[in-house]
Amino acid sequence: MAEAGARESGVLVIGSGMAGLTAAIESMEAGNDVYIVEKEPYLGGRVAGFNKYFPKLCPPSCGLEINFRRIKNGHRRLKFFTLAEVEKVSGSPGAFDVTVRLNPRFVLQDRCTACGLCVDVCPEERPNQFDYGMSTTKAIYLPHQMAMPMKYVIEEGYCQGDSCSKCVQVCPTDAIDLRMTATTLDLKVSSIIVATGWKPYDATQLELLGFQYPNVISNVMMERLTAPNGPTKGKLLRPSDGKPAKRVAFVQCAGSRDVNHLPYCSAICCLSSLKEATFVREQYPEDSRVYIFYIDIRAPGNMETFYRKVEQDENIRFIKGKVAKVEEDPATGNIIVEADDMVGGRKVQATVDLLVLSTGMVPNTKDLNIPGLGLQVDEFGFAEEDRSSGVYVAGVSRRPMDVTSSTRDGTGAALKAIQTSFKVKERASL
Ligand SMILES: Cc1cc2nc3c(=O)[nH]c(=O)nc-3n(C[C@H](O)[C@H](O)[C@H](O)COP(=O)(O)OP(=O)(O)OC[C@H]3O[C@@H](n4cnc5c(N)ncnc54)[C@H](O)[C@@H]3O)c2cc1C
Repeated sequence: MAEAGARESGVLVIGSGMAGLTAAIESMEAGNDVYIVEKEPYLGGRVAGFNKYFPKLCPPSCGLEINFRRIKNGHRRLKFFTLAEVEKVSGSPGAFDVTVRLNPRFVLQDRCTACGLCVDVCPEERPNQFDYGMSTTKAIYLPHQMAMPMKYVIEEGYCQGDSCSKCVQVCPTDAIDLRMTATTLDLKVSSIIVATGWKPYDATQLELLGFQYPNVISNVMMERLTAPNGPTKGKLLRPSDGKPAKRVAFVQCAGSRDVNHLPYCSAICCLSSLKEATFVREQYPEDSRVYIFYIDIRAPGNMETFYRKVEQDENIRFIKGKVAKVEEDPATGNIIVEADDMVGGRKVQATVDLLVLSTGMVPNTKDLNIPGLGLQVDEFGFAEEDRSSGVYVAGVSRRPMDVTSSTRDGTGAALKAIQTSFKVKERASL
């Protein structure tokens, strides 16, 4: 077992999405030792998988790269651990002992040059969860094109191990170790920030909205279908037959504000559909048609301007009404959506190439049971912060929010964590 963090004024950040990255970097730049524990093999959270993100509609690289540069500049104060999870916590504010499990990457990070020769010889495939199962990778893979760290990883369970070893033989830097096992690491920190973010609501629960049909996808899948590093290299093609998806419908509040699914509003789904509608229009400006079925559009603050701009596009039709029926035409794979138009007072039917279910965000804190952390959650699983506990919360762990709010919340959490560290330093100097 290794040990790090001799100084007890450190800050531990669990999760490295926009909230966690911001909290970690702000804490570091204020002069604290910081540790990020991230369970995926890369930093960046959900935003890393988007095509573009509002408000500026820039690609994820524009926000993430700045943060990664800040990490590199302060690397002696900030250490990050990927494929890592907190196993247990003990102690009290100002003096926490944390045990971190480091899962094996099977690739030595200091040796891997990301040349990719290993991929060419690997005989095994795995479903690519970064593309929500819409593509596969080899058992040894780079998590995505701008992954930080830019290092390969092997998914245990798909790799044949020693009986194959083709990647080991071909690796020019001897970076692959198929016998790597999990290890643990002990950290001493004064405060902890929980920024574990969200997962998409399980769309398989939405059979009434047709998720069982190949041409019905969720909003996060739509991000990947339009992303240049996605399964179709950014070309919006429908999953059943690869034809251009020019007629696209969105169903808002798919499983949200519904006591049978997620009773709350995820705050960003309207905006994400407005954004994704622009992706369709950009790809096929001549002959695309978008339908947005909604209950009410929520575009808070200055995003109202974005809503109004999208609304002016005459090829985007907004229909206020709950979707009553979704069917597939088995001959064509087209999707037929039926709703009651509450404004027009009649039934509306749209036949589309692709239907996107705008599903909500489920907080990962719902299932985060770290012994000794003492994190309380509300009825939906969002974390409730107790400022006296030395454990702070940032981003979607607290409540549904967009990236701008998550970074602000990360900065707020950093300030609270720094205050705890400061008190420890003060006590030590007396
Ligand atoms: C379809 C869709 C489109 C969106 N588009 C936009 C947009 O264009 N603009 C915008 O502002 N917002 C958008 N959002 C919202 C945006 O995704 C969130 O605001 C943002 O992801 C919040 O960041 P976060 O750091 O709180 O969480 P996340 O991005 O979820 O990051 C959490 C991190 O914690 C890690 N983690 C989870 N559990 C553990 C654990 N136990 N141990 C260690 N690490 C863990 C995760 O792997 C992840 O890296 C969109 C949301 C959806 C659903």
